[in-house]
Amino acid sequence: MVEPARVVCVHRMTNPIEANLIKGLLEQQGIQVEISGEGLVGAYAGVPRVCDVRLLVPPGQRQQALSVIEGYEAAKGEPDDGRHWVCAGCGEQNASNFEICWNCGLPGEAA
Ligand SMILES: [Zn+2]
Repeated sequence: MVEPARVVCVHRMTNPIEANLIKGLLEQQGIQVEISGEGLVGAYAGVPRVCDVRLLVPPGQRQQALSVIEGYEAAKGEPDDGRHWVCAGCGEQNASNFEICWNCGLPGEAA
């Protein structure tokens, strides 16, 4: 008889430091997290090595965990602070860190 999965993998990565960071974020949300593969990496501490690290959570908390990870990934990849200015020339939306319109090159509000 096959037992139902106690935990499911929600994320795979190669960086155990990042894995621990995400684990902390998930635990803040009350999600039980296990990391697999971490011990293997520890044995090679100090040696950069591509490894398979997995974040495991109970199946019932999978969706919640995925949305937390999604938010983390989005924050990591987007230095954009969410503010935008609208170009007077073409009406295009530009991120606040753009000094000129990416579309038509017209200087933005900062200029
Ligand atoms: Zn423009």
